[in-house]
This record gives sequence, structure tokens and C-alpha cells, in this order.
Amino acid sequence: MSDCIFCKIINGEFNTEFVYENEYAVVFKDINPKADTHLLVVPKKHVESLNELDDETLLGKLMMTVKKVTKDLGIKSYKTVINTGKEAGQEVFHLHIHVLSGKININ
Ligand code: 5GP
Ligand code: ZN
Repeated sequence: MSDCIFCKIINGEFNTEFVYENEYAVVFKDINPKADTHLLVVPKKHVESLNELDDETLLGKLMMTVKKVTKDLGIKSYKTVINTGKEAGQEVFHLHIHVLSGKININ
């Protein structure tokens, strides 16, 4: 989607460094980290939130991406978070999985 910040990141418009990339997702560091390591696993396909997700296989693929990237980085212990909807704290309306490890500062 043209006015979506994560679509722009995926399209390389901000030169964001990808920690990892595969055919369906990119992984990059959160700009405002809430943990020692705070990554975002983001599908290349624009989906507003979990509520709009209709691809039954995509979430599994994204979780396998979480496994792959944490393993590559030697992270054994981590928290995953998906904020769905404004009231739950979703600010960017392009589905993403937060991966947090080390000292975590979320409520
Ligand atoms: P949400 O609140 O929607 O679950 O999470 C959105 C996350 O995206 C926030 O943690 C925020 O810091 C991060 N974020 C917003 N804009 C950018 C950006 O331009 N670059 C990066 N790397 N992260 C961003
Ligand atoms: Zn998008």
C-alpha cells in the first residue's frame, strides 16, 4: 500500500537494514526498541492486522521466520507480540510480529 510505512521499508525507500529476508517476510530492528533486542518480522504482503489476515499459511511461515532469525542470532529466550487494533497499541497497520529479548520494557 502506497502510504504504508512498512510497505515503504519493504520497497527499500528508507534504506532500512534487513536482519533477515526470505520470499515472504523481512526482519528489521524496531526504531524505538523496547528491549535489548527488538526485531519486527513483517510480511512482504500488505495485511492491515491479524483481523484482516485470510492466508491461513502466512502466520505459520512468519512464526517459522521468528524461529530462524532467533536461532541465527543465538537468541534462545524471547517474547513475541502481535498488537491487533488501536486500543491494543497497534500503531502501524501492516501486520508484524514483535520479537523481544534480553531486558524487556513493555507493559
Ligand atoms: P505496533 O505498535 O504497531 O505494534 O508497532 C509498530 C512498531 O514499529 C513500533 O514499535 C515502532 O517503534 C516501529 N516503527 C515505526 N516506524 C518505524 C520505522 O520507520 N522504522 C522502524 N525500524 N520501526 C518503526
Ligand atoms: Zn503495508
